[in-house]
Amino acid sequence: AEATVMATFTATTVGTVRSRYEQPTGLFINNEFIASASGKTFVVENPATEEKICDVYEAAEADVDAAVNAAEEAFKSWSAVDPSIRGRCLLKLADLIEENLELLASIESSDNGKPLKLSRIDVGLVANVLRNYGGWADKIFGSVIDTGDTHFSYTKREPLGVCGQIIPWNFPLLMWSWKIGPAVATGNTIVLKTAESTPLSALVASSFVKQAGFPPGVINIVSGYGATGQHISNHMKIKKIAFTGSTATGRHIMRAAATSNLKKVTLELGGKSPNIIFDDADVEKAVEWANTAIYFNSGEVCCAGSRIYVQEKIYDEVLAAFKKRAEQNVLGNPFHEDTFQGPQTSKLQFDRIMSFIEEGKREGATVITGGTRYGDKGYFINPTIFADVTEDMNIVKEEIFGPVVTISKFKTVEEVINLANDSQYGLAAGIHTTNINKAHHVANKLKAGTIWINTYNDFHHQVPFGGFNQSGIGREMGAEALDNYTQVKAIRIAIGKDE
Ligand code: NAD
Repeated sequence: AEATVMATFTATTVGTVRSRYEQPTGLFINNEFIASASGKTFVVENPATEEKICDVYEAAEADVDAAVNAAEEAFKSWSAVDPSIRGRCLLKLADLIEENLELLASIESSDNGKPLKLSRIDVGLVANVLRNYGGWADKIFGSVIDTGDTHFSYTKREPLGVCGQIIPWNFPLLMWSWKIGPAVATGNTIVLKTAESTPLSALVASSFVKQAGFPPGVINIVSGYGATGQHISNHMKIKKIAFTGSTATGRHIMRAAATSNLKKVTLELGGKSPNIIFDDADVEKAVEWANTAIYFNSGEVCCAGSRIYVQEKIYDEVLAAFKKRAEQNVLGNPFHEDTFQGPQTSKLQFDRIMSFIEEGKREGATVITGGTRYGDKGYFINPTIFADVTEDMNIVKEEIFGPVVTISKFKTVEEVINLANDSQYGLAAGIHTTNINKAHHVANKLKAGTIWINTYNDFHHQVPFGGFNQSGIGREMGAEALDNYTQVKAIRIAIGKDE
């Protein structure tokens, strides 16, 4: 009990929530918040004000071991329980998340910097995801295979064991739900590491895990940096690792899996997604979607539409309209209801993006708008458009992960398909056209895991998401995610043969 008290911090208010609330700061292991074994903590900052929010405990190797041991113990009964009980826990957790929507959204906005109205949407989506997987829990089954002989052959889908999960800072709570939902629905237990810049919302959400009915050790949450993630990806008792973040870190994780116990790996990595506007598109709507595609969530979106290609005939018209639209985006305090864009999530990200902007200028691209810091407090960057770019420029090739987009012209359908596909990535792509044949033709040819037609950044918890090429391995959401968390056992019985 003492450890639990130690591992919390009481904030008077956060965001729009005018009552005192308790922020857990400990590691969540066995349904309790505890201090790290060494007592080591790190600082969590509000990126809009650059002020410290609180310290949270950092998990070292011994803490990861403790979490894994708790998860391993819990796996014995969780994997064998009536699956509808797993479903009920997820449904109850979804209800508790929804009941605390304003608190969780406010914490998300103060920790990540995203506008409160976006955080509210995220928390609503978290509840949807948990409910969706709650519904799947008792609908996991194998098949009977007719082999045409005297044998009875069937398969079952079994959970893997303890799963390690490492999430990023751009959608902290949403990524927590994408990871937890399919894993625990199928009978696995987890050790999840949040990102060092945004640990707070997942800790508060985890405080509802016990109340939702999850037995101790099913869901364990640790805070920490890359080193904590490495302990997870190297761990000999962890059977599977799921990661969302940069392609560079994805490579480290695969390497760690390969040199430890060949744990199964799924990765959701970066992107440089093309967003194509054909000359028969509804220009006003296409511009609106192009704006959402890149500037939503301060551009900190793995599938951001960061390369816009516009067909020659309407290029000048689209460029002028898009510049005007980008300049209307309201930047500022995440808690103001009219704010569209908050700060970048950390100083590190702000510096990375600003150096890409400087590189673009040096490479000879034209800044149509933005290209500068907004204000002098907080990590805000003005929505930036680069034109006159060539395909070999770094700002066209590399993921910037900020409110920075390149825009260029194309002539023919075949040409834009080639341009769009000329990338190491393949996470998403956008197509804007009123011609249904063209829409399907291009969607067929694009090498990306998600294609949005006359829309963008348009997720649904029933629809799988993941990458082609170096954007990842495996799919999250939808029924596809369940495959990542189960393994097939084939059983063959000799029957019906008399001798
Ligand atoms: P990152 O990939 O390093 O961090 C993501 C998560 O991985 C964090 O929880 C981090 O602590 C952990 N991590 C870092 N090093 C690790 C290691 N060696 N082993 C295990 N876990 C490790 O990303 P970042 O440095 O925060 O951001 C860098 C870039 O990554 C961004 O600019 C962006 O391009 C990309 N990114 C992509 C996504 C996405 O949704 N695909 C999310 C965040 C960042």
